[in-house]
Amino acid sequence: MNPYPPVLSDLIRKLSRLPGLGEKSATRIAMHLLKSPDKDVESLAENIRQLRANIRTCSICFNFTEDPVCAICGDPARNTGQICVVEGTADLLAIEQSGAHKGRYHVLQGVLAPLDGIGPEQIRIKELFARFKSEKITEIILATNPSSEGEATAHYLLQILKDHDARVTRIAYGIPMGGDLKYTDRITLERALKGRQVF
Ligand SMILES: [Zn+2]
Repeated sequence: MNPYPPVLSDLIRKLSRLPGLGEKSATRIAMHLLKSPDKDVESLAENIRQLRANIRTCSICFNFTEDPVCAICGDPARNTGQICVVEGTADLLAIEQSGAHKGRYHVLQGVLAPLDGIGPEQIRIKELFARFKSEKITEIILATNPSSEGEATAHYLLQILKDHDARVTRIAYGIPMGGDLKYTDRITLERALKGRQVF
């Protein structure tokens, strides 16, 4: 028999559906909330409510924002001609944290996955094309993940972007920093060698 009152077991069940949380961590979080001061729990609940009410996607790049246009698209210091295409906002944040990209982004909100019924219409591909009409795009950096679906999406975009006047580049594949050649898989090694650069 479930030892918890219904409200508590319901919360544990809902928390354990969140990514990365199993039943044990969900129970620990629920117990923590139960012991926390009222104001902290109310503030968290209000934050979750506001998240759904106030966060939307940028009308240009589909990054998350509270405004019609996100802070990156609204930043006059960014290189507006260079667009880095990513699968999701988490990828955008990772690239932003690297500080290596000074242009704008385009968040696809997914990747092509025909077996799951996700085709070009289900992700933000036509919106990327629409940007060629309103922006002067000089380079498209394809930064989808090096997974089979990310690769297929990059190849699809490369094919249909051929007719546009922008340079299309793909992020490099290689050995991670701190990595070890003898433990690196064959495909990564092969691509790292093919993508070698003058030192
Ligand atoms: Zn934006």
